Amino acid sequence: MRVYNFSAGPAMMPIEVLETAQAELTDWRGSGMSVMEVSHRGKDFIACAASAEQGIRRLLGVPDDYRVLFLQGGASGQFAAIPMNLTKPGDTAAYLNTGQWSTKAIKSAKTQLLNVDVLADEAETKYTAIPAAGSYVVPSDAAYLHYTPNETINGVEFDYVPETGDVPLVADFSSTIMSRPIDVSQYGLIYAGAQKNLGPAGLAVVIVREDLIGNARSTTPDIWDYTAMANADSMLNTPPTFAVYLLGLVLDWIDASGGLTAMAARNQAKASSLYAAIDSSEFYANPVAVNARSWMNVPFTLADSSLDAEFLAQAQQRGLTNLAGHRAVGGMRASIYNAMPQAGVDALIDFMTDFANQRG
Ligand SMILES: *Cc1c(COP(=O)(O)O)cnc(C)c1O
Repeated sequence: MRVYNFSAGPAMMPIEVLETAQAELTDWRGSGMSVMEVSHRGKDFIACAASAEQGIRRLLGVPDDYRVLFLQGGASGQFAAIPMNLTKPGDTAAYLNTGQWSTKAIKSAKTQLLNVDVLADEAETKYTAIPAAGSYVVPSDAAYLHYTPNETINGVEFDYVPETGDVPLVADFSSTIMSRPIDVSQYGLIYAGAQKNLGPAGLAVVIVREDLIGNARSTTPDIWDYTAMANADSMLNTPPTFAVYLLGLVLDWIDASGGLTAMAARNQAKASSLYAAIDSSEFYANPVAVNARSWMNVPFTLADSSLDAEFLAQAQQRGLTNLAGHRAVGGMRASIYNAMPQAGVDALIDFMTDFANQRG
């Protein structure tokens, strides 16, 4: 039986994608081999990777002066690769700290000898809010402003795009990419680990404006150098071929589901129904400021935390899995990325209602 998997990542994948991959697994495109076994230098795989890149460009409307890179090392690798490529030691870079992923990005930037200017830190709200637009000023000499549009652990999401003037905006879109349309031209660099909304683990996508690359520090290893990777079509070394292939299938699935406008409507409806169920209950609570509530990750607590283990066990029996909150936050967290259907959210709400009636 397929379960509804509420994991924050690696996360649920669309069943249609898994079935296509299954059907093609042992004989991909008539090669008599799986896609995992073909050469990444062969024309079939090169076409597969090019088509995945085109899918990203088409769905997100990526302007022509941006490069799309397929890298490894996850989003975490980019925490260091961004400073290596966009700054020199001693440069200033501005960061907004809205939770654990921003905190890690900041820590990594410091290891790259940046002068990190944290313009806002939501520590005092316990990372349940975002800094208001206009409450911070981006220094004009900053190499970039980095922010995390969606904090996966805290379930906090920006409801606006920070205004930076001429300073490039850098965004960790790991847990919200492809969940709705965005205007890529507002950003200097967008990056995301694939394992939440794009496919399986092992692949990171970077979308970077061309004028920002070409000045990597001389100590940057080639595989972390955006220009070297761009010039090699992201195949300087062996790419994670199966992950790139699955990314292509996920992008086709988004297209077939109506594209990002349809995704946005579905995602907003799913999130609204879950927040409404939490808000209308005395038994469940969500700590996040209403304007900062994530469409993708919905943390919630039970009125009596001694019932947490029982909640999780009963949910599991109903095929609702991976609902435990992040160890740093506790309680529950339902991650409801693109691949989670409304039926999964409805099943969760039904269960939550039954559990509250029985134990509340
Ligand atoms: C999951 C996640 C990461 C870490 O991704 P890895 O691919 O494991 O390095 C970074 N940032 C955000 C916002 C995430 O959700």
